[in-house]
Amino acid sequence: MNTGQKLWQEAKRIIPGGNQLLSKRAERFLPGLWPAYYDRAKGCEVWDLDGNHYYDFAQMGVGACVLGYADDDVNAAVIEAVNKGSMCTLNAPEEVALAKRLIGLHPWAEQARFARTGGEACAVAVRIGRAATGKGRVAFCGYHGWHDWYLAANIGDESNLDGQLLPGLSPTGLFRGLKESNLPFNYNRLDELEALTKRHDDIGVIIMEPQRGNAPAPGFLEGVRAIADRIGAVLIFDEVTSGFRVNMGGIHLTYGVEPDIAVFGKALGNGYPIAAIIGRRKAMDAAQSSFISSTMWTERVGYTAALATLEKMERLNVPARLTELGLRLNAGWERIAAETGVGVHIDGIPPLTHIGFTCPEAPAAQTFYTQQMLEKGYLLGAAVYMTNAYDEAIIDRFVADSATVFAELRAAQQDGSLEKRLKGGVIQAGFKRLT
Ligand code: PLP
Repeated sequence: MNTGQKLWQEAKRIIPGGNQLLSKRAERFLPGLWPAYYDRAKGCEVWDLDGNHYYDFAQMGVGACVLGYADDDVNAAVIEAVNKGSMCTLNAPEEVALAKRLIGLHPWAEQARFARTGGEACAVAVRIGRAATGKGRVAFCGYHGWHDWYLAANIGDESNLDGQLLPGLSPTGLFRGLKESNLPFNYNRLDELEALTKRHDDIGVIIMEPQRGNAPAPGFLEGVRAIADRIGAVLIFDEVTSGFRVNMGGIHLTYGVEPDIAVFGKALGNGYPIAAIIGRRKAMDAAQSSFISSTMWTERVGYTAALATLEKMERLNVPARLTELGLRLNAGWERIAAETGVGVHIDGIPPLTHIGFTCPEAPAAQTFYTQQMLEKGYLLGAAVYMTNAYDEAIIDRFVADSATVFAELRAAQQDGSLEKRLKGGVIQAGFKRLT
């Protein structure tokens, strides 16, 4: 057993759930074999606890490190901030600079608040929305974090969240009185949102990702905007994952539909913790009437990292590059799938592309792909977040190595040996107990 796996087994005994983020669980990538821990990461390269070297095609810090790991320019800014004092009784001026920067990128927005994680920023945004409208119910589409307001959707019907990115989320630990405080509708289903507004006259907040996988159907985002205006709800676009990948800001800018509030996280700080809630004054001002406050939201590193990240992202036109690289990977996958006869579907925005196998034994096929690619020196999952640290050569090399594995996979499918060729268990999807 590799050193990382040994540590992971130990971790699961003393850290319930093993770690702090479902998406990084070893069982989701390669049960029993995933290296699980890193010693060092730079650009798109990772060294595990045994000194093995990998190219990261697994998630690049779950989408946080758009510029690449340990980016020299962001690190230089952060180190300077640390040396000048990352925490103080007085405020860090960088938070005003970041507020101005984000408002500048989103001309419809007038104010900003900050937090440190995507989920808490969504919770802040929802609180502000409720405070601004005085109406308590939320209609939502997509995934927005772990907080009570969100998981409440599953009280009474534990499958309500299953179509919204993460299936199997249990409302255990929540106050049952929150039942029907958070109401789901599916993406591109304006009729479902309409139906919710007919059933409840106290929806104060509509929160959704403007785009995750498929593009919005014509008129969908505009329709949601019109419903929010009609019922007097605050419309929140959660751009925690979609932000700063296809353009300099929220993906909503490309669709020309403006929310009342937008939420950012992940890519904003290139891996340093920072999240932002920006919005129209009319909605945001309610943040003054509701108590929303935290010590660590004031530390300096997050703001400094975000400013340095945005400066470099804009200077190098990184979002355009991410699209270019994502399209190259997609074309490579499609070509080798056609050549080898392996059935795949590829979806998502090019900077966050997903591969899925269409065969009935899809989880085993994904596990085999990850297992074989690990041996060739790649960390791999079903989603690949593009990073500016990739170049054409590494994408082409990844595709060439994938072609070898696809050929092996096809042979294993044809002679029925796929399960036998797995050295550990099949990957786990969704949310489950680990121990
Ligand atoms: N909202 C969206 C759209 C996300 O994709 C995520 C994380 O994947 C979150 C919220 C939660 O962000 P965090 O994991 O930083 O709390």
